[in-house]
Amino acid sequence: MSSTEIHNVVSAVTYAQEYDHGVIAVDAAMLRPRMVSAYIVKCGEKAVIIETGTQHSVPHILTVLARHEIPPEQVAYIMPTHVHLDHAGGAGELMQHCANAELLVHERGLRHLIDPSRLEQSARRVYGDEIFDRLYGAVIPAPAERSRAVQNGEVLVLNGRRFEFLDTPGHAKHHYCVWDESSKGWFTGDTFGLSYRELDTERGPFIFPTTTPIQFDPEAMSQSVKTMLARSPEWMYLTHYGRVGQVAYLGERLLSGINQLVAMAEQVAEDDDRDQSLRRLIRNWLRCELNEHGWVGDNHQWRLLLEPDIDLNAQGLLHWLSQRES
Ligand SMILES: [Zn+2]
Repeated sequence: MSSTEIHNVVSAVTYAQEYDHGVIAVDAAMLRPRMVSAYIVKCGEKAVIIETGTQHSVPHILTVLARHEIPPEQVAYIMPTHVHLDHAGGAGELMQHCANAELLVHERGLRHLIDPSRLEQSARRVYGDEIFDRLYGAVIPAPAERSRAVQNGEVLVLNGRRFEFLDTPGHAKHHYCVWDESSKGWFTGDTFGLSYRELDTERGPFIFPTTTPIQFDPEAMSQSVKTMLARSPEWMYLTHYGRVGQVAYLGERLLSGINQLVAMAEQVAEDDDRDQSLRRLIRNWLRCELNEHGWVGDNHQWRLLLEPDIDLNAQGLLHWLSQRES
C-alpha cells in the first residue's frame, strides 16, 4: 500500500448491522467502509466483543453498545482473534472503557498487547509515522491484571451462551477462532479469508485467502479451515467483512485458493523479478475468478478493494518462499 492509496478518514457516522442470535457487526471505520468489522455478541444483559479494530474504532463500538443499551461495564470479555493491529490495536483503549471486561488473547499474543511497543514499532517501520497515526492512532497497553491467555479448546459460558476457542495457525501463529454455539458460527478473524460485501453477486459471496506476512503457513491454514468446517457451521463471521453463509462451498473455494496461491509463488521462484511477476499472477487469477463469479466492478473499485490485498498476499507468499528456501 503506498501512501497515496491511504486516505483513512475517521468516519463520524457509525455503521452497524445486527444479525440473528444477537450478533452485531460494527464497522470499525478503517480505511474504507465495510473493510474491518468488530463484533458485539449479546449474552442476556451482558455482552462480549470479538475484535477491537484500532483506537479509532473504539468510539464506534461504544456508540453501538449505547444504541443497544448495553453499558460498557456489562461487557464481560474482549476477544481479539490475533494481535495484528486491525484486530487488536484498539484493545487497550477499549479495556479502559469496559472497566469490568477481561481481555482474552492467544498465548502467543498476550504479551504483545500488555506491552504493545514491538507491535507499534514494526508497524511504524512499515508505514511511517504519519500513515501509522492515521491508520491506528495510539496503541495503548492492555492492563495485565485483566488480561489472560486462552488455551486451545477452552470453553467459556456467559449467561448460558457457550463459546469455544480453537487455535488456528496459518494466517498467524497467535491466532484463535471463536465458536459460537448459539448461532452455529465461527468468528474467523483472518483464518477463513477475506470476503468483501462489494464483491457479492447473485452467486453469493466471493472469498479468497489472506497470506499476509510474516507467518503465513499454507498447510496450517488448510488444516485450520478444515477443522472449522468439521463443525458444519451455518455462518462465518469474518473480520473482513461481516457474516457469510454457504460455508461448505466457500470453504472449498478457500482451500483451492490456498493451493493456487502457493502454486503461483512456486511458479515465480526462479524469476528475477518475482515480486512483480507474483502480483501479476495474483491479479490475473482474481480477475478470472471474479469474472466467473459474475462481478462487474470498474478499475477504481478494483484498486480500492483488491490492490492492497494483492500487495500483502504477494509479500506474505514471497516471505514464505524465502523461509522455505533457507
Ligand atoms: Zn491478520
